[in-house]
Amino acid sequence: MRKARVMRHYKELDPTALRGLIFDIDDTVTNQGVLEAEAFVAMHRLRALGVDLVAVTGRPLGWTDVIARMWPVRIAVGENGAGWAWMDGVHAREGYFAEPYKRAAHDRLLQEIRRDVASKMPHVRLANDRGARRCDLAFDVGEEVSLPPAEIDALVALIESHGARSAVSTVHAHATPGDWDKARGVERALREVLNVDLDQELHRWVFVGDSGNDSAAFTRFPVSVGVANVREHLHRLPTPPRYVTDSDRGRGFAELAAHLCDGRG
Ligand SMILES: [Mg+2]
Repeated sequence: MRKARVMRHYKELDPTALRGLIFDIDDTVTNQGVLEAEAFVAMHRLRALGVDLVAVTGRPLGWTDVIARMWPVRIAVGENGAGWAWMDGVHAREGYFAEPYKRAAHDRLLQEIRRDVASKMPHVRLANDRGARRCDLAFDVGEEVSLPPAEIDALVALIESHGARSAVSTVHAHATPGDWDKARGVERALREVLNVDLDQELHRWVFVGDSGNDSAAFTRFPVSVGVANVREHLHRLPTPPRYVTDSDRGRGFAELAAHLCDGRG
């Protein structure tokens, strides 16, 4: 059951101790799959003020290679925490949550799930970004198709019946073969890349997201923000965000960023 917690207006967030902003991508800074101009400008403004930006997405690790190189972020975490990419000067680096020896077993489990879904729910298709995935499996629930909520629940149950975990975003239902999630992946990446001990400075990091696959991060980060469209997904969030923006998606992200920037002088 969702905890009863009133989401507060984002302007009540005190930005004075801010060090970094961790943000989801789909429907947090994008609209219909396209990065919104206001959000990208806001990222540059935050970066110019010295705020450490971390993107964390259910999108493939192959995409985070590009995001880490071309967006003003310190780290890009992909596949809901399975791995991350960053630039070390001119060198592109990558890290993984699971040790290499576990990844072969994970691959076998994903193949089992893939075959079972094809057999029991043959109308369900793999996500169209599957070619760039390395550690998980994602099924399309809202990108090229719109799967009804009952079908999504059945798909999640099927994935979980194999011993995998599942996370649902606005676009995909993921089969996750290891014990990572967005919060754990970000925590590990921050330690590895920026030498941050998150327990020591948890209140200096803001997380912003919008849907079910942000659940672990909304629970882990006490200073959490939902863009306004999060209201459509509260049923998949045991802990709702602490704050909420007025606007949806990238415009909501930009509102929050303006508030954070103003608070830093
Ligand atoms: Mg999202």
